[in-house]
Amino acid sequence: MSDLDDLYQEVILDHQRNPRNFVRLPNANRQAEGNNPLCGDNVTVYLDMEAGVIRNISFQGDGCAIAKASASMMTSAVKGKTVAEASDIFKRFHQMVMGGKDPCFDLESLGKLAAFSGVSAFPVRVKCASLAWHTLNAAMQEQPGAVVGEIGKETPK
Ligand code: ZN
Repeated sequence: MSDLDDLYQEVILDHQRNPRNFVRLPNANRQAEGNNPLCGDNVTVYLDMEAGVIRNISFQGDGCAIAKASASMMTSAVKGKTVAEASDIFKRFHQMVMGGKDPCFDLESLGKLAAFSGVSAFPVRVKCASLAWHTLNAAMQEQPGAVVGEIGKETPK
């Protein structure tokens, strides 16, 4: 199990040091901003959407290692996906970091995102890990320029 933890930690550190899609998307047609005042994380997600598909995605912002790595991995995970597919990944990711009660939870289906499974043991970090996803959700659903204030009222079990 500790080998797995090391591997997960490596994935997170890699994304924190070399965040993917960390630019301002020039032709974004949706964007949203998210803040996590508990930790000081902020993220702006840019989307280039066409016909319900995330053609391109990027993010900007600053925050702790978990928030930054999560945003980076989120963009990698949903690029090219439909809104429905992205929402489904978010649902499962959220269930995982909240310490999903489903014993049959399929961690493997989340691929590299499973690196954040350990977050469920640290309630304070749950918002860091889910910030980019809430912001993505807002960007997909909202009008351009939407701002997400204090996100999530989640209380981990
Ligand atoms: Zn944070």
